Amino acid sequence: MIQFQNVTKKYGDHVVLNHVDLEVNGGEFMTIVGPSGAGKSTLLHALIGAAKLDEGTIMVDGYDVTSFKEDALQEYRQKVGMVFQDYKLLKDKTVYENVAFALEVCGWKEEDIKERVYEVLDLVGMLDHEGKFPRQLAGGEGQRTAIARAMVHRPRLFIADEPTGNLDPWNREGILDILNKINENGATVVLSTHNRELVDKIKRRVVVLNEGRIVADKENSGYEVDALLSEAVEKVQEAEMAGELMGRMAEAIGSEVGDIEITEILEY
Ligand code: ADP
Repeated sequence: MIQFQNVTKKYGDHVVLNHVDLEVNGGEFMTIVGPSGAGKSTLLHALIGAAKLDEGTIMVDGYDVTSFKEDALQEYRQKVGMVFQDYKLLKDKTVYENVAFALEVCGWKEEDIKERVYEVLDLVGMLDHEGKFPRQLAGGEGQRTAIARAMVHRPRLFIADEPTGNLDPWNREGILDILNKINENGATVVLSTHNRELVDKIKRRVVVLNEGRIVADKENSGYEVDALLSEAVEKVQEAEMAGELMGRMAEAIGSEVGDIEITEILEY
């Protein structure tokens, strides 16, 4: 469903995403973890076409998201559900109105809007709060409303960027239950988080990002990131040492190494 190919993003000299290759199949629940500043948000922003890339492409269902013009981008974003750490609710609208608004702007009829809004508010457990304004909501309730709004169009792809960052453990689990439900109903879920307990609970595919590179990619994994990270860093160091060795060998034999395998050189 999604293919990141050679995705590179820089801010000035700072390489934030470094030749990222990543595939996500339809129906997967993929969690992206990694330390703060690793590039998780940038990767997800790129996936909704909100970060201009320096190199690479992001294909979603066969379309290159990075080449979308404004109209196509708007249409694409309406098909993707997205929630953030700060819920981005409209302050002067009630819970009901915040969700309904997403359908109004697409020209839905009032009775259809009503039916669908109540359906999603029920799914996220917010029916009893439909008349409240964002300032009257507890954190978990704000995020539930944001999720209701994001799922109102029945997106096949649901992206959640640190959705539980501001929440206590009880509310974190509630949000996780909803994301699981969304996934069980067939949507692909891509979640970024640095919360250890949450990833341990999810136990699905975990991709570890560090300094803009994917350093580990594991199915049915818990957080285990310390282990995954050190394993990955060791591999990088080994590769660097191998690279150095290849360079030295090439110098010694006075030729370009090109794409000769290290084993061939060692055997030489
Ligand atoms: P994460 O989500 O893993 O914490 P981010 O994707 O938010 O990481 O950020 C990755 C790096 O990119 C950080 O070092 C951050 O400071 C930098 N960065 C993000 N957005 C900008 C920007 N608009 N301008 C300059 N640097 C940025």
